Amino acid sequence: MQNQMFEKEKFIQEIKDNVKNLYRKTLEEASQQEVYQAVSQAVKEVIIDQWLATQKTMEKEDPKMVYYMSMEFLMGRALGNNLINLTAYKEVKEALEEIGFDLNVIEDEEPDPALGNGGLGRLAACFMESLSTLGYPAYGCGIRYRYGLFRQKIENGFQVEVPDNWLKDGYPFEMRRPEHTFQVKFGGYVRSEGDPSGKTRFIHEGYQTVRAVPYDMPVVGYNNNMVNALIAWDAEPEEYFELDAFDKGDYKKAVEQENLAKNLVEVLYPNDNHIQGKELRLKQQYFFVSASVQRAVARYKKYHTDLHKLPDKVAIQLNDTHPTVAVAELMRILLDEENMEWDEAWTITTRTCAYTNHTIMSEALEKWPIEIFSRLLPRVYQIIEEINRRFILDIEKKFPGDYNKVKKMAIIFDGQVKMAHLAIAAGCSVNGVARLHTEILKNQELHEFYQMFPEKFNNKTNGITQRRFLYHGNPLLAEWVNKYIGNDWVTNLSHLEKLAVYADDEKAQQEFMNIKYQNKLRLAEYIRKHNGIEINPRSIFDVQVKRLHEYKRQLLNILHVMYLYNKIKEHPEMEFYPRTFIFGAKAAAGYRIAKLTIKLINSVADVINNDASIGGKIKVVFIEDYKVSIAEQIFAASDVSEQISTASKEASGTGNMKFMLNGAVTLGTMDGANVEIVEEVGEENAFIFGMSSQEVIDHEQKRDYDPMQIFNNDQDIRQVLMQLINGMYSRNDPELFRPLYNSLLNTQDTQYADTYFILKDFRSYAEVQSRVEKAYRDEKGWAKMAMLNTAHSGKFTSDRTIQQYVDDIWHLDKIKVETPK
Ligand SMILES: *Cc1c(COP(=O)(O)O)cnc(C)c1O
Repeated sequence: MQNQMFEKEKFIQEIKDNVKNLYRKTLEEASQQEVYQAVSQAVKEVIIDQWLATQKTMEKEDPKMVYYMSMEFLMGRALGNNLINLTAYKEVKEALEEIGFDLNVIEDEEPDPALGNGGLGRLAACFMESLSTLGYPAYGCGIRYRYGLFRQKIENGFQVEVPDNWLKDGYPFEMRRPEHTFQVKFGGYVRSEGDPSGKTRFIHEGYQTVRAVPYDMPVVGYNNNMVNALIAWDAEPEEYFELDAFDKGDYKKAVEQENLAKNLVEVLYPNDNHIQGKELRLKQQYFFVSASVQRAVARYKKYHTDLHKLPDKVAIQLNDTHPTVAVAELMRILLDEENMEWDEAWTITTRTCAYTNHTIMSEALEKWPIEIFSRLLPRVYQIIEEINRRFILDIEKKFPGDYNKVKKMAIIFDGQVKMAHLAIAAGCSVNGVARLHTEILKNQELHEFYQMFPEKFNNKTNGITQRRFLYHGNPLLAEWVNKYIGNDWVTNLSHLEKLAVYADDEKAQQEFMNIKYQNKLRLAEYIRKHNGIEINPRSIFDVQVKRLHEYKRQLLNILHVMYLYNKIKEHPEMEFYPRTFIFGAKAAAGYRIAKLTIKLINSVADVINNDASIGGKIKVVFIEDYKVSIAEQIFAASDVSEQISTASKEASGTGNMKFMLNGAVTLGTMDGANVEIVEEVGEENAFIFGMSSQEVIDHEQKRDYDPMQIFNNDQDIRQVLMQLINGMYSRNDPELFRPLYNSLLNTQDTQYADTYFILKDFRSYAEVQSRVEKAYRDEKGWAKMAMLNTAHSGKFTSDRTIQQYVDDIWHLDKIKVETPK
């Protein structure tokens, strides 16, 4: 324990001083928000000492470091997790109690920095935490969006998006670092001239500039004094007096640059697994990537002279294709600013950069029109053209006479720049995020690339941090685990395996299920307060929380609820174990079908929750504004984890892992990491249904699936579908849900109906759901199954994932930071 700094009396005094200095108030006068700020300042002071100590150690040991580049970091709240990683949570909780405050309430004062959409952004956050905990030097590089992902309000059952002004009260866990400001250039044109040695030099002129100013956010490792930084770039306009002499007095240009800076980091695009082909999005990408690469090179040059050895000290990981322009930016710096030859620059770049693929869905693959790209980034585009020219020569050498291969693999083709192709050509590694996903990449989506570069392809199954999703989110279970097996699991999750021997122990079972019950009470209270719905804490909590997307099939889930409701209405005497179906999901603002699915869930909830005749057997709850802080509480309270994506579509999933860790049983398809979850926990401890990924892929290729046939032959399904369009759930507007009906069953064009095979998998889903009910009635059997899920979840820690990235791709060395005095 390193908690001298949290000596209670001293800490309390510090909070009082902070309240006084920040707000000119006494503790009695301070609001909860003000106390939150005061506590955070006190915690920040401790963090800064460790941060300085980490910097010192890095300067001394000169280790290799990774720059994890990501458009999104879905960090979640910092205060509670910082306290846990400083091993001071309990002490601070007690200190606050002494002065009449509840740490949980104080934590709720922190805005949830929502600088990400869903799984991809949350993965980046888990990775940063694991890097610090494992002692690996790392920078996260991203954007300090002025507004995070929108806040979701439900009005009359519809999603309404409101701005998330997360910075309005000031964010205590960030530091502006103006000394690391860089200039990023947009637009203009490129001119070439020969220099005296006969070499051609490229000169970029007539551009606009933005100043990239970093805010560093500390990422605290668990009990090891290690603090890495997440660099979140803000955009500021160029100071007028810093304009080129040429541009002085160009008032129009000054205003343009001011607007560019203002708009650049305003919003995070709210699309998950879907491209946003907006010019501003490309500007955002280049903005943070250029600043980050410049900072990486500048830091390297501060300590080293020979840039050829950059790959010995720097790894750049591209989290999806969004930051792929980094490869061209690094080439630009090496060629134009460091005067290197193409081949030397290319060798350095390819040894430095690596790419993580996150999806196979075509609508998510990034392509930029040449017109936009070359106008916005003229010099970078030239470099990509040259990369493409040389790459095509390589393709032709590898596949002589096979023009099809060039068509499929070229980086620039058909008027578009294909970012995934650039990332694969220029990276030393291409990884998928679960074993099945990587196999699909190798054998289907990226097969040609795999033939060309088999050595680049590898798998890194995603993971999650147990410090947040068990220790912080489920304190009762964490303490229970400590009681049985000690606390090694905090930094070595495979130790949870030791719980397996208690799976048949009745006392352990009862304790485990009692903790689940306590967590269900906590969530039920949240739902009572926020939704005004009373739910039965003894019912099965059946939960699907994740972004709303057709491939994730929330529609399958709610159609099944409608089906169950029909059954209960038809057979009131039928045995039925009470069930609470809980949903939480944000839909992209422009995604019509997704938003209508939210409305359907809320409409079904209205009808069923208010039907006294079913005796509360089913309740349906839609939790507004799903985000990390409420997610932590939901996982802890769940019995059933709905992971029901169309097989082959979910690259990994990480929600599935958080549920498992908390003792919820997976009800899912053989998709993404579900495959590996089942492998770890055993088929008998999960509920698997539906088509395999190969079956889905085969039907897609043959185009032989006809949902109309199912509609015509299955009465129950037909009944449910008719209820979408007969006003049962939309009395005032029977046509409201017609688009959902059509998406399943468009009779004009069956070819394109039910792309996600909802009707095809429906029977299999209903069947496995009835097995869930039967299994839940067996209390001991269920307790054992739940406990075994926790026990076998060790593989899914992000510590394991990060160690694999380190071993196979980044080759970092751990550093050890001494406790600061
Ligand atoms: C883990 C997490 C996700 C990802 O969930 P999936 O089920 O893997 O899509 C999305 N949002 C939040 C807030 C999360 O914590």
